[in-house]
Amino acid sequence: MNVPFVDLKAQYNSVKKEMDEAIHRILDNTAFIGGNEVDEFEKAFEELYGVDHCVPVGNGTDSLYIIMKMLGISPGDEVITPANSWISSSETITQTGAKPVFADIEEEYFTIDPNHIEQLITEKTKAIMPVHIFGQMCDMDAIMDIANKHDLFVIEDCAQSHFSEFKGKRAGVIGDAGSFSFYPGKNLGAYGDAGAIITNNEELAENCKMFARHGALKKHEHEMEGINSRLDGIQAAVLNVKLPHILKWTEQRNQNAQLYNQYLSGIDEIDLPKVRNNTKHTFHLYVIRAQRRDELAEYLDEKGISNAIHYPRILPNLQAYDYLHHSCTDFPIANKYERQILSLPMYPELRKDQIKYVSETLINFFRKGKSK
Ligand SMILES: *Cc1c(COP(=O)(O)O)cnc(C)c1O
Repeated sequence: MNVPFVDLKAQYNSVKKEMDEAIHRILDNTAFIGGNEVDEFEKAFEELYGVDHCVPVGNGTDSLYIIMKMLGISPGDEVITPANSWISSSETITQTGAKPVFADIEEEYFTIDPNHIEQLITEKTKAIMPVHIFGQMCDMDAIMDIANKHDLFVIEDCAQSHFSEFKGKRAGVIGDAGSFSFYPGKNLGAYGDAGAIITNNEELAENCKMFARHGALKKHEHEMEGINSRLDGIQAAVLNVKLPHILKWTEQRNQNAQLYNQYLSGIDEIDLPKVRNNTKHTFHLYVIRAQRRDELAEYLDEKGISNAIHYPRILPNLQAYDYLHHSCTDFPIANKYERQILSLPMYPELRKDQIKYVSETLINFFRKGKSK
């Protein structure tokens, strides 16, 4: 049996008719940039999240940059973000001219450690960017307390946490703004690059919209210089077709995770992903930890099971951040997990027999190890 890491074709097949029609409507109307579908998506996303403003943009990296830029983050400032994330989180901080300051992650949940955040705050700190990584919510109570105490902005990176919840509140509505990616492999994925910002701050929303459109809300009236970061018509149409199904697909991810948990709970050599109390995890990724990770990954490959590491190097260990001169002891947990984490196949359409096969293969690997 072959088990892919994600299967975008399976999801496309499940909505093929509506999807093909929606894309052809865009072609017929040549509504390639802007237009009804983009406006519709904006409204639908606002409604789903119960927020006042959604600003559709080109991708989930721009959305982070635009938010920070419009919050006034600039050279001389510092922004705190977790050591374990995708580089968008930190590179956008640098793009504003500010300095990325990395915090370690929590032992249990892979998310940014609020205790470490406190230690990193200086008079230059302007914002915290928690990343709800793998679909797991950060400890938003602790983070908001710190932010309020030190008068800091909170920018939630929700690229991996569409519809995750913390105490009944969805990821993206707790801080000053939420940043979303609709990269094809994300929980809500377009068929190309796409992203969005959500916020209840009207002035921020207006400025983000302006900045993303060359600094002009009305054609030729440029109030400032901006960038070009637009959601295009075809991507909006794709997202509009997917939105009515997204909560069901999210639920299927959860059921798949539960099934993995059941099958794998007996293996002492691995740690299964824990879910924070009073939160809803959305399992963008199902990440286990194992001491013999590399050997295990190789074994899975041999058995036709795709797997991945998120991420093989934590951000401070990347060459791009050599200039910060960090050492392993700066981020003990993130550094330890770098060698242990392994992401198993996870997507809504993953079948029960596939989960069973992956799980049995894992069990066999550890049984084999014991008899050696
Ligand atoms: C995917 C991702 C992004 C960037 O999104 P793009 O749409 O690919 O630009 C940002 N942050 C995190 C944590 C991500 O996983």
